[in-house]
Amino acid sequence: MNMSFLIQHLVRSLLFYVAFLLALPLHATETFSPVKALMNRDVYYPGTEDLKPDEMRVVALGTGQPTVRPKQAAACFLVELGNGDKFLFDIGYGSMQRLSAMKIPMDYLNKVFIGHLHMDHFGDLDALWIGGVKMNRTYPLRVWGPSGATPEMGTKYAIDGLQRMLNWDAATLKGLLDTRGEQIQVTEFDFKGVNQVIYKENGVTIRSIPAVHTADGAVSFILEWNGLKFAYSSDTFPNKWWIEHTKGVDLSVHESFASPQILLDKQRYRPELALSLSVFKHTSPQQFGKVMSMTKPRLAVGYHFYNDHDTLPLMLDEIRKTYDGPLALATDYMVFNVTKDDIRVRMAAVDEEIWPSDPTRPKETAPGVGDTFSDFTKSGQEPMSDLVESIYREFNEANRTNVPVPK
Ligand SMILES: [Zn+2]
Ligand SMILES: [Zn+2]
Repeated sequence: MNMSFLIQHLVRSLLFYVAFLLALPLHATETFSPVKALMNRDVYYPGTEDLKPDEMRVVALGTGQPTVRPKQAAACFLVELGNGDKFLFDIGYGSMQRLSAMKIPMDYLNKVFIGHLHMDHFGDLDALWIGGVKMNRTYPLRVWGPSGATPEMGTKYAIDGLQRMLNWDAATLKGLLDTRGEQIQVTEFDFKGVNQVIYKENGVTIRSIPAVHTADGAVSFILEWNGLKFAYSSDTFPNKWWIEHTKGVDLSVHESFASPQILLDKQRYRPELALSLSVFKHTSPQQFGKVMSMTKPRLAVGYHFYNDHDTLPLMLDEIRKTYDGPLALATDYMVFNVTKDDIRVRMAAVDEEIWPSDPTRPKETAPGVGDTFSDFTKSGQEPMSDLVESIYREFNEANRTNVPVPK
């Protein structure tokens, strides 16, 4: 065997070996093994996937009509960015439950952008505010929302009222929990601003444009980060601002309300109301399709209808009369992974028995059980002193603690 043949043989063996190693991971994912996990997952399990530095993940947490139901909460979209920032766009009633399924510590969920003050777009703000404190959010809640025709129709007025409504709840948390998160910082901006910057931090810019929906004081949002754009209509009739400012965005989430025919057949509205609700108060599926044809996003996402086996084909038929581009019709827990190269759409598999995630900062020691009772209420207490003593003793022994019974 001469030298050159030997070298040739070695090189060929080496190349074969490298090719084999390169092929191995690919091969492994395609082969079933009775003891290994499958590699390619077609569902999203919250809390198990890293977000790449250039990636945006959007989760639909509320996609239904204004009346909430088990399958679909009211409007809410979570946007998570590869730089660590997280934003909520609308927080309609029922959506807080879906949000908790995402397994995100509450400290990261303190930025909320409200498109308008219908309860199906901000009805769970109370649950995020107070519930967040109870689940250890130690940072103030930050809320952005539009002005209205008068100060009483604006976001600040609504949040002031919410705080008054929940005064008893907030007050009774003091002395019991770490209440640093009870503060709400409201930024009310002019609803008439066109493409106005309302947020600019950490490489993220969020702009508002006016929306046309039931009264002055409704807006849509456009988030821009790292060359990616996410647009969210909240509620609106098709309008010139959206058409001008959302052209070619990566993810275009726009309402596509139930068609007049669905409202008539399934919800038994009067014909005049079925038409005006779908076509004038909201955007009907055919109008939604037309808007998407005019703006050509990378992916059009329709929401704000009851998405069922019977309504989905009807909605699709309507939309396809006016739009033939990329489309997803959202339902709760639909997940969009967006990068410059790809948009992946999956459903999340959620854990019904989720517990609140650990806080990011240590909890402050509560100063002790608050006692703000009047003599009247106090006189009703059945002390059970022996039992209470024994519960404390049992707990202290089991946990090697030394917590005294409050006096
Ligand atoms: Zn509305
Ligand atoms: Zn709505």
